[in-house]
Amino acid sequence: MRVSKIEPCIDCGKRLPRKELNRARRCSDCAMAAVRDSMAQMHQKSGPYYEKWKENLRAAASRL
Ligand SMILES: [Zn+2]
Repeated sequence: MRVSKIEPCIDCGKRLPRKELNRARRCSDCAMAAVRDSMAQMHQKSGPYYEKWKENLRAAASRL
């Protein structure tokens, strides 16, 4: 039987089976916090998440 690999969450360092971490390697608590954080930044139109979003939008637009 294959045992799921244990990996640390990139934010809090909590060690969980890989399948319980999301694609960004965050546990569900940190994923929720990250969503809340990014929502707040989108609202304020500043911060690393907002900058990243703008970058992605620009990249997507240039592919059209
Ligand atoms: Zn975490």
